[in-house]
Amino acid sequence: MIVNADLHIHSHFSGATSPKMNIENISTAAPLKGINIMGTGDCLHSGWIEEIKKCDKIDDGTFELNETRFILSTEVEAAQRVHHLLFFPSFSSVESFKEKIRPYSKNLETDGRPNVSLTGEELATYARDVDAMIGPAHAFTPYTSIYSSYNSLDECYGNLSDYVSFVELGLSADSDFADKIKELHRLTFLTNSDCHSPHPVRLAREFNRFEVKDATFDEIKKAILRTGGRKPVLNVGLPPEEGKYHESACRSCYTHYTLEEATRRRWKCSCGKRIKKGVKDRINEQADFETPHHPSHRPKYVHLIPMAEIITKAIGQRSPFTQTVTKRWTELVTAFCSETRVLLDVDIEYISKITAPAITEAIQAFREKKVIIRPGGGGQYGVIELPSEDEIVTVMLPTDTQTSLYDY
Ligand SMILES: [Zn+2]
Ligand SMILES: [Zn+2]
Repeated sequence: MIVNADLHIHSHFSGATSPKMNIENISTAAPLKGINIMGTGDCLHSGWIEEIKKCDKIDDGTFELNETRFILSTEVEAAQRVHHLLFFPSFSSVESFKEKIRPYSKNLETDGRPNVSLTGEELATYARDVDAMIGPAHAFTPYTSIYSSYNSLDECYGNLSDYVSFVELGLSADSDFADKIKELHRLTFLTNSDCHSPHPVRLAREFNRFEVKDATFDEIKKAILRTGGRKPVLNVGLPPEEGKYHESACRSCYTHYTLEEATRRRWKCSCGKRIKKGVKDRINEQADFETPHHPSHRPKYVHLIPMAEIITKAIGQRSPFTQTVTKRWTELVTAFCSETRVLLDVDIEYISKITAPAITEAIQAFREKKVIIRPGGGGQYGVIELPSEDEIVTVMLPTDTQTSLYDY
């Protein structure tokens, strides 16, 4: 069977996260997006574990509420502020892990995403001891990621680097970028939302599609390890150019620079402020190949933005949170069961019978890779333009400042 999974989110117990991120809201939001399996996020937090226990238990590592399956996941900030993503096979594995890391954490019971004073190697050792999976979260972001602090998996995970089986690409990178780096070829790429709000603009804005025998932890583990015929079959994510740190750019005036130019200027903009190194340049510095070399197991990567954002652009709304956008979004999701089906799977002819021509055309433009993207940088999001017969519709992203508080 084919399942869609978003394996990295945060609960209301994490900082800067919407109070709406409770298990009930997540479990009802996921099916509308077309997501079958969610990572619980924050599973080291006792309060969140109590909420997870409201779900039906499918097996030791799989839980269900409102037809959404959950597997136990968390993010941990370790040495050098590097973020790691972990998946656990059971509550008892979670408890054992907590006891091991407790002496190294001051906020284990107060923050959904705890900080621990452990190296990547030490953290991975404890993870292996309890049979948990571990890998770098949003590996290329300019702060709090493995490649912002280290030059290789070995530098971070030491003797345990062979135990790492996946890497999360993060919102500003895709397979083409990551597969320029040779040491990542053996790893499974995960694309997750890292969302802090259950709104359809945030939840599952990136997700993975796996081929498995059942929607359970064991099967997802096999798919990540690519054993027994289980495997990832698709990564879906935002166009990396849209990311606010995609290109190197000034953090004050947002002038973009090439890597050579920025280096020559010693990362100082003509306005006098600092130039922030972009994800693209960080990857190119790290690259073993000039063009991506995909290993044979690498699935296709599809670039999408949330449907509410597509609708917003197509009909010229200012924000994806307006009633008009919500109405259009709801009529499509009601007709075809889920957002994922509308964006990826349903015949465009059927879509055209339900919604406005401008929205149909916009969905088609994404499917055919005809959207035009002006890259982001320096903390400013990129701009996506839809091709249009008589005019180019341009909308800045993000379009809502209120919820961008919850944006990561
Ligand atoms: Zn993180
Ligand atoms: Zn500047």
